[in-house]
Amino acid sequence: ESFDAMGLQENLLRGIYAYGFEKPSAIQQRGIVPFCKGLDVIQQAQSGTGKTATFCSGVLQQLDYTLVQCQALVLAPTRELAQQIEKVMRALGDYLGVKVHACVGGTSVREDQRILQAGVHVVVGTPGRVFDMLKRQSLRADNIKMFVLDEADEMLSRGFKDQIYDIFQLLPPKIQVGVFSATMPPEALEITRKFMSKPVRILV
Ligand code: AMP
Repeated sequence: ESFDAMGLQENLLRGIYAYGFEKPSAIQQRGIVPFCKGLDVIQQAQSGTGKTATFCSGVLQQLDYTLVQCQALVLAPTRELAQQIEKVMRALGDYLGVKVHACVGGTSVREDQRILQAGVHVVVGTPGRVFDMLKRQSLRADNIKMFVLDEADEMLSRGFKDQIYDIFQLLPPKIQVGVFSATMPPEALEITRKFMSKPVRILV
């Protein structure tokens, strides 16, 4: 199996190869294509398996680059992880001209507002700051069509459950949802039941 066989855009493939990936990992082989089809996907996998590039590829493949509005929202449990995802998304999407911003706590709210105002395609962030930006309408949800929860179990164990639900309430209906989690505790299953429709499950 190769990245070439996945039906990805030429400029996304260029980004993937330029980043140094030659062959898809197991999770990428199974997860990228269903995500690119717009399906809801649950991927139970440890970190280190290549899940970041799985959802980044799925997001990057489906963005409308002529519309500089937030179309994908990725939530992560920590600032560091959110910033790391931002870097991967930016690198893989380099030849597509993707605009990505990380909205995380401990940084300037005004600076976040300025960048969001100027326009981005993808926001990656921690639940607290993302909810704040949505409430202030600095982040407009109207065009969001993809919602990814990375390390969902970790976000829940850090007490972000209510904020995740609050954010979900503010997103358009019928949004594509991707849930990535190493484990599936009851609260994570509840999220998949409430937010997803007929999800594809992938266990790596
Ligand atoms: P992740 O599980 O997304 O945190 O990725 C774990 C590590 O594997 C990161 O250092 C990635 O850069 C690397 N990685 C992910 N996918 C591939 C791939 N297809 N080929 C080589 N390295 C990869």
